[in-house]
Amino acid sequence: MIAKPLPMPDKDSAPYWEGLAAGELRVQRCARCGTLRWPARAICNRCRSFDADWVAMSGRGTIKSWIRTHQRFHPAFAEDLPYVTLLVAIEEQADIQIVGAPADPAIDPAIGTPVRAVFRDPQESPPILFWELDAS
Ligand SMILES: [Zn+2]
Repeated sequence: MIAKPLPMPDKDSAPYWEGLAAGELRVQRCARCGTLRWPARAICNRCRSFDADWVAMSGRGTIKSWIRTHQRFHPAFAEDLPYVTLLVAIEEQADIQIVGAPADPAIDPAIGTPVRAVFRDPQESPPILFWELDAS
């Protein structure tokens, strides 16, 4: 059996992955102008500052796009086919759109549907972001 590839955090993305393990959706924020940056990067697109910190988001957003994958791109995912991947615009800044898996693999996604982040025990699940429908 071939293992699924896991995220490989680097210097810029490590705080995001640490946030998921801690049960938070963290996004890099410019320390000068407050603009959120995603994906994380060294310089702010708005004010050109190199200063940044990481802040926890509400975990709420709306489905901006989605795809149902039927093709086997990696042998480790063959048994999961077909599977859905979601692109979610977060509540705090709509141009921040984060990819994640649906918490319910049988989801019938629709653009504009409210969702919220779900954090699973990293000992029991791949360390990735999951989204579930937000009925509240
Ligand atoms: Zn800035």
